Amino acid sequence: MKGIWKYSHLLPYIEESAKLTLGEGNTPLIKSRQLGRQLGIDHLYFKLEIVNPSGSYKDRFAAGAISGLVQRNINFCIATSSGNTGAALSAYCAAAGIKCYIAVVDGVPIGKMQQMQVYGAQTLMIKNFGIDPNVTSEVMHGLHIIAENFGSPVQISAYQYSSLAMAGVQTIAYEIAEDMPALGGQVFSPAGGGGLTLAIVKGFNKWKAIKPDFKIPKVHCVQPEGNDTISGPLRNGLSKAQPVPKSQTAISGLQVPNIIDGNEVLEACKGTRGTGYTVADSAVYKCQEDLAKMEGIYCEPAGAVALAGVLKAVENGEINKKDHIVCVVTGHGFKDPVSSAKIAKKSGDSYFNSANETFEYLKSQIKK
Ligand SMILES: *Cc1c(COP(=O)(O)O)cnc(C)c1O
Repeated sequence: MKGIWKYSHLLPYIEESAKLTLGEGNTPLIKSRQLGRQLGIDHLYFKLEIVNPSGSYKDRFAAGAISGLVQRNINFCIATSSGNTGAALSAYCAAAGIKCYIAVVDGVPIGKMQQMQVYGAQTLMIKNFGIDPNVTSEVMHGLHIIAENFGSPVQISAYQYSSLAMAGVQTIAYEIAEDMPALGGQVFSPAGGGGLTLAIVKGFNKWKAIKPDFKIPKVHCVQPEGNDTISGPLRNGLSKAQPVPKSQTAISGLQVPNIIDGNEVLEACKGTRGTGYTVADSAVYKCQEDLAKMEGIYCEPAGAVALAGVLKAVENGEINKKDHIVCVVTGHGFKDPVSSAKIAKKSGDSYFNSANETFEYLKSQIKK
């Protein structure tokens, strides 16, 4: 069975004929070639969610969500998205022949927006959605009510709204558990609303229930400074996540100023003895560049947040360097060309008037 349906026995029931897949999941866990050595960590791994069909782990969510709609003969999808959920849902809706409406956060990167539109979705951008916590909750809650009135659940990649489809995201944990059965170790997960991090912990717990000798890794929640709704409270031992008055991070995907799955994430990470790491946007961009230049991994900024968390943990002396460390690299670099341009610019480009000029330049550059 293809895609997330490899784990059908661990997912909510969906009829065979309703199961949709575009080949999501089964993503590689790649061992670091350079950064691990530089940090003195022997076993640093990257879980490459960037190779999913629409370029992010949200395809695992969309496969579950849209199969659920197909099973119930629902012919439309209403969703909110910071970009990747929308891109993923648009793709699976296209495959299912379902009309898709996506309310997107204000300022969503062009790559994500275009992806939704190319798949044929209708995008609705709402002022201050994803920036102001009140507008953000108002949009999510209001759409939830409208969608329910039309007999369809709103699709938001969070347990609070779409717990059945989030079971699809838990397949990340099953794959990590299978690839590293003796793991123990630690998993660093970036968080916006926290659904991904919660899915990872829930997935590990479920895996442990069927494989009692599996050792659950510590799961850490990493967030940018300007949106540390969960990571700050988790580190400081608070019992509740804290909304921020205004999301101040520029990192697309992690601009979630209100509390969605945050309180559950706090409990879940604590249960694994994981903690919170809060990182500066600038540190994240540096990690994005390092992943590309030192590992050959092209991700969007949110995809580099987990690595920024590892750096912070090393800085704090909180890493046992013999541990297996996994960074979840959540989304592809193609999605956010504006943030990539800042890195690309530094590598430089050249324009030549002739082939010969090019040859002369190369000869002057390359030393034997
Ligand atoms: C959605 C998303 C996240 C964060 O997921 P949450 O469930 O909101 O915490 C992280 N990275 C990328 C690339 C995403 O698209």
